[in-house]
Amino acid sequence: MRYFLQTIVAVGLTSGTCAQSTASVNDSTMLASIYSEVMLNAECYENLRYLCKNIGHRLAGSESAQRAIDWGKEVLEKSSPGHVLLMPVEVPHWTRGAYEFGGYNMQGANKEVALTALGGSVGTNDKKLTAEVIEVKNFEELKALGEEKVKGKIVFFNKPLDATLINTGAAYGGGYPIRGQGPSEAAKLGAVGCLIRSLTLADDNFPHTGATNYEKDVTRIPAAALSAVAARQLSQDLKSDPTLQFSMHLSCEAFDRTMQANVIAEIPGTEFPNEYITVGGHLDSWDIGEGAHDDGTGIVQSIEMIRTLQAIGYKPKRTIRAVLFINEEFGNDGGETYAKRCKEDGLVHVAAIESDGGGFTPVGFNCDLSDDQYAIAESWLPLLEPYNLFRFRRGGSGVDIRPLKDDRIALFGLNVDGQRYFDYHHTNNDRFENVNKRELELGAAAMTALVYLLDQTGIPATK
Ligand SMILES: [Zn+2]
Repeated sequence: MRYFLQTIVAVGLTSGTCAQSTASVNDSTMLASIYSEVMLNAECYENLRYLCKNIGHRLAGSESAQRAIDWGKEVLEKSSPGHVLLMPVEVPHWTRGAYEFGGYNMQGANKEVALTALGGSVGTNDKKLTAEVIEVKNFEELKALGEEKVKGKIVFFNKPLDATLINTGAAYGGGYPIRGQGPSEAAKLGAVGCLIRSLTLADDNFPHTGATNYEKDVTRIPAAALSAVAARQLSQDLKSDPTLQFSMHLSCEAFDRTMQANVIAEIPGTEFPNEYITVGGHLDSWDIGEGAHDDGTGIVQSIEMIRTLQAIGYKPKRTIRAVLFINEEFGNDGGETYAKRCKEDGLVHVAAIESDGGGFTPVGFNCDLSDDQYAIAESWLPLLEPYNLFRFRRGGSGVDIRPLKDDRIALFGLNVDGQRYFDYHHTNNDRFENVNKRELELGAAAMTALVYLLDQTGIPATK
């Protein structure tokens, strides 16, 4: 049996000098109103320009992340009716340092390669680390070589992402363990450094950073990613000279953990103020590029959701929050702290939505729902299809909101056409210029539309 909304909502439509009128509208009229407001008056693109160009990249723990927090608070204060809350979050503090270099000598010619330290890597102690390179595809090949062939060398994991996977997130997920665990697996066999082929589906010269996780009690060795082009070149050169000496110089440093904050704005619910719907993205980014698609877009879309609901005069039944999470990239401290605090404070979450797949054309939503919840979500598709939102795809929502998971909450992630996401992800090329205004706005409108539908139904609990 399909479930349709049969609600008559009171809505104040803004026009001209914000004259408020109350009208009975059905859901499709309401969605049309949301889309009109966003497509005609959105501020998300200009907000993204400011975030990317005036603040720039913003790794958690950095001064620029703090500037982003201050900016996020200020922008939300303009768009939301009440006080904007800063929720303290303890975050790591790591810096890449001013200098990073990789290269080798091949038949008398010096070749410098495009390389970037993995997030959290140790440095090379103010000097070049030089060693032979041993190339492997995966952990199995590494283990088969054994300590004898690995000791004293730089291990080079050279495995492209699986291009046959049309879901690029799944392709990325396949390469992810190498970035996370590769350095420690190499160190266990006596390696002195670790290189990985960047986790990308593009064939270009941008290296991709991202967190690596050293295992406890295993020697921490310097670790960096090579661009796809540099990885292919090194692999070819190793075939003609297996003893070539690779040099890397990283000036990374780790400092004490420090305090930053999640930024939270809300529109209080009029009927069920103790039921919450949280919408968010992560304010931190990696420390190269501008963190535009990852995840500046999710941030400005979440702010846009609040602005739009206010602009059309919508009075939600439930309390709607926009949350700018800090430190998704390097430990998910913002998401974990938020869930913990909500639990301590007894906040009941009906739903949460995250945008963290890039500001590309939305096609629907990923979702983590019970069967009953899924049936309700699917019943909304006739309302959403006019906006090119075609599916609720099971599996996945967002890293920041996942800690909220319980047997009550409905979790959603904005599902976009992500074919180009991993071209930009964690690179110096993740820049404002690579975000399309209309695609970004469509994402903001889609999230706002889903907020409206969730607010009206209060999607029932899993059990
Ligand atoms: Zn992200």
